[in-house]
Amino acid sequence: MKTIGLLGGMSWESTSGYYQKINQGIRQTLGGLHSAKIAMYSVDFDPIEKLQHKGDWEGTAAILADAAQKIERAGADFLLICTNTMHKVAPQIENAISIPILHIADATAETLVEKGIKNVGLLGTAFTMEQDFYKGRLSEKYGLKVHTPNEADRAIVHNVIYQELCLGQVKEKSKLEYLRIIAALAEQGAEAVILGCTEIGMLIQQSDTSVTLLDTTAIHAEKAVAYAIIE
Ligand code: GLU
Repeated sequence: MKTIGLLGGMSWESTSGYYQKINQGIRQTLGGLHSAKIAMYSVDFDPIEKLQHKGDWEGTAAILADAAQKIERAGADFLLICTNTMHKVAPQIENAISIPILHIADATAETLVEKGIKNVGLLGTAFTMEQDFYKGRLSEKYGLKVHTPNEADRAIVHNVIYQELCLGQVKEKSKLEYLRIIAALAEQGAEAVILGCTEIGMLIQQSDTSVTLLDTTAIHAEKAVAYAIIE
């Protein structure tokens, strides 16, 4: 079994979900007392969030590249960056290490392609919903048509992530707002909606809506388990 590298802490609320899902996946697949081999580095999110909102992505890349090198030195065979947003600096992280990165947008897009879905809604931070590192990868590499909420709704989705979910707060009012926004994306023609932020699964589950949801934390963790056990 390969050792899975986790670059976490963005936020730790979602990283604890990764840890649990990966271990559950290994137990389900291998049985007995098997558990995942994991090398994790969990960053302090506060300075990273400040750099993001200042637009200093090179500053975030330097912190994450250093953490990724530590994970490689700890023995990881491949790396998961446990956040959608910070895949913005995945190329810089990739250049700093020699182990492969299992990219969260590729993992998600492969699942969409397997399901035959071509039109998809995307929820995440403003960075993820508005910039090309994520949306562009889905459309250019996989031919997907990506729908995002209108400007006011993007602000709601973004603010709930940073002001509530990353602080471990799950509020009914926000859940209703997200469900309204998911329904609007389906109205626009989205056949499914990507929960493109690793904390959204804390707020919304598949049982809350008839719209097909793709939880990126669950998908990323599942792909990591599959990759870890391939000889
Ligand atoms: N975990 C979130 C994501 O998947 C947001 C926190 C971050 O900015 O990394 O995008």
